Amino acid sequence: MSSDDATRRAGAILTVDVGAIAANWRGLRDAGRAAGRPVDCAAVLKADAYGCGATVVGPRLAAEGCRQFFVAHLEEGIALRKAMPEHPIYVLNGLLANTEADFVEHDLTPVLNHLGQLNSWRAAAQRFNRPLDAIIHIDTGMHRLGFGPEEAQVLINERGRLRGLRLALLMSHLVASEEPNNAINGEQLSRFRNFVRAMPGSPTSLANSSGIFLGPDYHFDLLRPGAALYGINPLPGRDNPMLPVVTLEARILQTRRIDAFQTVGYGGAWRSARPSRVATIALGYADGYFRILINRTHVHLAGHRVPVIGRISMDLVTIDVTEVPEALSETGAVVEVLGPHMTADDLADHARTNAYEVMTALGRRYARVYIDTPPEGEGESETEPETAS
Ligand SMILES: *Cc1c(COP(=O)(O)O)cnc(C)c1O
Repeated sequence: MSSDDATRRAGAILTVDVGAIAANWRGLRDAGRAAGRPVDCAAVLKADAYGCGATVVGPRLAAEGCRQFFVAHLEEGIALRKAMPEHPIYVLNGLLANTEADFVEHDLTPVLNHLGQLNSWRAAAQRFNRPLDAIIHIDTGMHRLGFGPEEAQVLINERGRLRGLRLALLMSHLVASEEPNNAINGEQLSRFRNFVRAMPGSPTSLANSSGIFLGPDYHFDLLRPGAALYGINPLPGRDNPMLPVVTLEARILQTRRIDAFQTVGYGGAWRSARPSRVATIALGYADGYFRILINRTHVHLAGHRVPVIGRISMDLVTIDVTEVPEALSETGAVVEVLGPHMTADDLADHARTNAYEVMTALGRRYARVYIDTPPEGEGESETEPETAS
């Protein structure tokens, strides 16, 4: 199916600008290099590249010069490996029991989160009779994954436990990097520094997107941005330094006039105060448009801000187009759900969540169009359009 077919048939179209993702990656890499040290910049592609499509984004960033990639799940790594035969792919969730051979077969590197995983991976290196790459994740305060302080001390005291493995990276993860004044940042930094001083000779990594903006002390050897690549604001409450990446448009399926004091949608949760025109658009909570958005957000149509009214249905959303000229709000007209007037951060505010959840919930039913806008707005070109139903 060509992308023309997909967009003709689709009720809603998600456009992803991979050129903007590449430009965001370059910007973050350059921020890492600003202090004059040779800091490298990876890309986090978990959750299908935050909804943008990992097997499209990964190769595009590799072409841009990105050399290291993170996913969360083993299966994500296996899928990405097919699209990217060459580059190191790191699996953050670590080594599950009896998956060592899968990691070896697909040339994936586990992020080892405790001594048990380290022992299993070392045993695998012996069994396969070759050195295997490994990443050690140190818990410096998240208390989620990673070697705790006692296990970390065991590693420091007994370096032989790493025999047969090549340490590709020592890493830790920040708890509140988007809050520059939170004291936990400095505490984690000093815990991580102490650990890497005791384990010299391996590359090191601490900063996610927001962590990069905490300054060069946090950069170490490798940056690990996810969110900022996809246009999510790494500096909440301040101007977003990243380029926007996604646009989501939905078609109007039907428009109707209703009298005053009529309800719209399930449960009659919205009632017209005046004679109104209601349009129904082709997306719903099954596509990641959260039910909590009832009577709480808007879309844009032909320069008008159009309120979302009534309950969000599984496949449908109703909007009040009374103020929009009829000719511009007929069946087939396209409304902007996400885009220049409504970023994922904005919609997240309305939904009482964060833009990470908005992005990773982006529906599988949208027709996906990939564009590759060159820097400095030299126009855009459609690259190998990829579609998902
Ligand atoms: C998700 C994740 C990242 C990326 O975080 P962003 O805030 O999206 O930049 C980096 N490191 C680890 C361990 C992660 O889980």
